[in-house]
Amino acid sequence: MKSYHADERGYYGEFGGAFIPEMLYPNCEELRQNYLRIMQEPSFKDEFHQLLKDYVGRPTPLYFAKRLSEKYNTKIYLKREDLCHTGAHKVNNTIGQILMAKKLGKNRIIAETGAGQHGVATATVCALMGIECVVYMGEIDIARQAPNVARMKMLGAEVRPATSGSKTLKDATNEAIRDWINNPVDTHYIIGSVVGPHPYPDMVARFQSVISEEIKNQLQEKEGRENPDYVVACVGGGSNAAGAFYHYLDTPEVGIIAVEAAGKGIHSGESAATSALGKIGIIHGSKTLLMQTQDGQITEPYSISAGLDYPGVGPMHAHLYASGRGEFISITDDDAMNAGMELCKLEGIIPAIESSHALAIFEDRKFNPDDVVVINLSGRGDKDLQNYIDYFKL
Ligand SMILES: *Cc1c(COP(=O)(O)O)cnc(C)c1O
Repeated sequence: MKSYHADERGYYGEFGGAFIPEMLYPNCEELRQNYLRIMQEPSFKDEFHQLLKDYVGRPTPLYFAKRLSEKYNTKIYLKREDLCHTGAHKVNNTIGQILMAKKLGKNRIIAETGAGQHGVATATVCALMGIECVVYMGEIDIARQAPNVARMKMLGAEVRPATSGSKTLKDATNEAIRDWINNPVDTHYIIGSVVGPHPYPDMVARFQSVISEEIKNQLQEKEGRENPDYVVACVGGGSNAAGAFYHYLDTPEVGIIAVEAAGKGIHSGESAATSALGKIGIIHGSKTLLMQTQDGQITEPYSISAGLDYPGVGPMHAHLYASGRGEFISITDDDAMNAGMELCKLEGIIPAIESSHALAIFEDRKFNPDDVVVINLSGRGDKDLQNYIDYFKL
């Protein structure tokens, strides 16, 4: 049977692989040769699951959203990643990677961050383990994201400004890669989504796969079956979606719906709808779909939600799109904001704007009354309060 998981070279169909400069090869190779073995060690598994339980608060509930279901005349469940410690799914991955780093004998962590969410999740686990943490962040992002910069500092991380180029995420990524090349022995680089060179996309997807593992058990309890009819998640780089889809990838009866940010409209020039607009290319060491100009320069993405404005998409998702296994829907800023506000009013849950994109599909995409639709609610909206205030003039 055809599989939608990575093969041993890190390819999902024609996407993935490791397109890296020679100087980065030893770092990636050390990780590649060890990650599967380490993840299978009982001592690793025990510590990972213990921390997910006692520190992160897993399993997160699978909540039947009664009033939302009534409104859209279908059965909607919300997987409550917003209830994870630090407010989103990202910590599932950083817990996994900090344990991986320890097993590999690393005593220093680096990361890059755009909006600061991954930086906070990384600083959190470094504090937990008492490990040195350096987070690279574009100078412009540092100015825009003051609360997350403060959080990282409180958690003991050093936030280093990237001052080259556009002074945003891609420049921070370049600085982090430079650091890793210079510190191959003692440093582990924690990447925050299912992007980057092999083995990162596969490793991060495996850490996040706890989400769909739990959904299966919880649906069995609530509906008497492990499989929903559809599982839905927003896609920035694609890690929360990879986690929600993971155990359903090779189960064709389960529909997979990936939701991207259309920003001000797919063809407005201000969007992050990678599958609709992207062409095959290489970004951060991975062959995937990315938004680029005719001559291959990466286009600056835009979305009202900082977590979705990434110009590429992880190779798993590129393959789900190209193969037709996944259904891809893009949602504008306006539709996402309204869906977020609707969840507040109908269910008493303030979602992250990223997650609101997934919630917004019900306006146009219709389901049958007895369909079971699981939405991965990737994060809570506290971090987005100022955006909600400005948008709705609250
Ligand atoms: C970072 C983030 C995302 C986007 O990242 P993925 O890797 O695509 O999951 C989505 N939702 C929330 C709440 C986030 O913080």
